[in-house]
Amino acid sequence: MGLKIDFDLRTRGEELPDAFLDPYELELMFDNTRRSLGAALERKFGAVVCAEHAQAPSFTISGVYDNENEEMDIRYHVDTCCQHFLLRVMQILNQRA
Ligand SMILES: [Zn+2]
Repeated sequence: MGLKIDFDLRTRGEELPDAFLDPYELELMFDNTRRSLGAALERKFGAVVCAEHAQAPSFTISGVYDNENEEMDIRYHVDTCCQHFLLRVMQILNQRA
């Protein structure tokens, strides 16, 4: 219960004059990213808590869209109550959906 997911989605670099995505499309892409990654995490971790501390994991997902090469770099940061549970969460995170 109470899975905590924070998103930090940003752009980097100057927008190119012939950019593939305009600012509105970029916002849409960020919205879709939040929705789909959030849903995937809810699916995987909706019922997962630490066996010892009964705490849910919390996630921070950082995404940087680089205007120059028009690529999105996504990173997961995981916080847990203890090291043991962190290992379990990483294991689940790396399983195929
Ligand atoms: Zn724990």
